[in-house]
Amino acid sequence: MLYAIISDVHSNLEAFSAVLRKIDSLKVDTVFLLGDIVGYNANPNECINIVRQKGIVSIVGNHDQRVCGLKEPNDFNSIAKDAVVWTREILTEENLEFLKSLPDTMLLPDKSAIAIHGSLTDNADSYILSPWIALKNFNKMEEDPSLPPLCFFGHTHIRLLYHYTRQKVLTIHEDEVFLDPTEMYLINPGSVGQPRDRNTKASFLTFDTEKHLINFFRVPYDIKSTCNKILKAGLPRELAERLTLGW
Ligand code: ZN
Repeated sequence: MLYAIISDVHSNLEAFSAVLRKIDSLKVDTVFLLGDIVGYNANPNECINIVRQKGIVSIVGNHDQRVCGLKEPNDFNSIAKDAVVWTREILTEENLEFLKSLPDTMLLPDKSAIAIHGSLTDNADSYILSPWIALKNFNKMEEDPSLPPLCFFGHTHIRLLYHYTRQKVLTIHEDEVFLDPTEMYLINPGSVGQPRDRNTKASFLTFDTEKHLINFFRVPYDIKSTCNKILKAGLPRELAERLTLGW
């Protein structure tokens, strides 16, 4: 099977559409989304509608949880909180219910990998931002026999691959990586709608389950249109600026 793994769309319709066009050209079997369909940018209903219409399989992200009322945004910074409040008001009742219905985690159909938004140790709200935190997650994978040796995560908006040799954690930034099925991996596809690795292009990956092959992709999109929509909607100006910086 060829799977596409995407994350952190964040209501960015232009980036989402560009990534889906690329995915279509790759003849992918199924698209999995690691949460945060909404938040920050200006097209939340349009992005949720695409997820629902295309049958993209998604888990819930920390912004999704706050927008649909599963959690309150009190711990968010003021810019993120403003976007949550704005999104809550504009979302249709159906789309709010859809966000509420999303699961916290999922196993891929062949059980080769688990998908989470934040981390295995504290799910949607905590970040895997260092090899040290990755190690804690690898330890959890070692301790729990129900967990596969491969985990896809999002939330940091930074694409990378952690490889655990069972002695040390390696941080890999290559575009193409063959996995050793006897070792362990934590893999982040980066963000579709708000990349934060100083690269403004939308980010995602594909996973070929037979070849044990990961390929990372970057896709250009019409950032100017997305920024104009953010400003027109009255969302914080900083949300437009950061898209032009990839941060
Ligand atoms: Zn996010």
